[in-house]
Amino acid sequence: MSKIRIGIVGYGNIGRGVELAVERNEDMELVAVVTRRDPKSVQILTEGVKKVHFDDILTLKDEVDVMILCGGSATDLPVMGPEIAKHFNMIDSFDTHAKIPEYFADVDTAANEGKKVGIISVGWDPGMFSLNRIYAESILVQGSTYTFWGKGVSQGHSDAIRRIEGVKNAIQYTVPIEEAVERVRSGSEPELSTREKHLRECYVVAEEGADKALIEKTIKEMPNYFADYDTTVTFVSEEELKAEHSKMPHGGFVIRTGETGREGNKHVIEYSLKLDSNPEFTSSVLVAYARAAYRLANNGDCGAKTVFDIAPGLLSMKSAEQLRKEIL
Ligand code: NDP
Repeated sequence: MSKIRIGIVGYGNIGRGVELAVERNEDMELVAVVTRRDPKSVQILTEGVKKVHFDDILTLKDEVDVMILCGGSATDLPVMGPEIAKHFNMIDSFDTHAKIPEYFADVDTAANEGKKVGIISVGWDPGMFSLNRIYAESILVQGSTYTFWGKGVSQGHSDAIRRIEGVKNAIQYTVPIEEAVERVRSGSEPELSTREKHLRECYVVAEEGADKALIEKTIKEMPNYFADYDTTVTFVSEEELKAEHSKMPHGGFVIRTGETGREGNKHVIEYSLKLDSNPEFTSSVLVAYARAAYRLANNGDCGAKTVFDIAPGLLSMKSAEQLRKEIL
């Protein structure tokens, strides 16, 4: 059986994660990495894979079955997504929640025009968490859904600290507050403020002679990022930051509690993730959905889709018959 030929567009954390995930899926092969940088300057892990400049992406039209877009959500994907969907089946992890409807419409127009399949916003949130929210809300129609994130590194918040004067480097963790998680699990459907759900832990390397008290105050009072949370700031050395905070863990919980029947029997549905590597996990989800895109396209389907539109059986390497026998 011929393998599904995968292309990676954008080689950052997720791009590298996709490369590693493809390695673990025997029905796939990585054939090309596309980058906006000089391809020669980008060191990839696998030998024998083409490195192609973004401007020459169309040379891969007959060589790639599915392009996995690994650019950033803020500015890369809104432009790249529709451009690529016109010419290739594609998957991405677009995670600007508020802009998903708009982005979906743009990819849908392009993918329909090119008769390609584009599955957007694949990963864990949006992605696996979204799936668990839809299953839980469709089953427990009266109830409340809660999402907690962490413990995990937030790139956006870490970047915001790094921009403060006197800060050399920093990492920020979002941490769910256990007491709030327990209140939710109890089924009491509490109303929780932002401050009650998560706290923020910051590890900061200060420049020599920097005013640490001022840095701490600036972080804690930063609007939108930290002012609404209980925040801790710990100053560490560059070596400590590297040794203890250089991984990219993440995770979280989706919990829905609700009632059924006339007597109001209570139920709790919970899905949790504890990830050593956010990019490697996200990439593994992307690769499973690339398989679905390939199968849908081979059946003549086209247009934009989200995880809500994809039947679970399409994600698996196993046949439908095997799945019915082994894990139904
Ligand atoms: P990166 O910043 O690591 O990479 C983004 C792009 O930047 C790359 O595609 C690459 O493009 C370019 N780039 C990477 N490294 C360098 C470098 N050294 N010098 C210059 N350019 C570089 O982002 P991530 O891979 O960590 O994340 C990508 C997106 O994934 C995020 O924006 C986020 O929205 C999304 N995401 C979604 C999740 C979900 O659950 N749905 C979970 C996690 C992330 P090029 O090769 O073309 O230069």
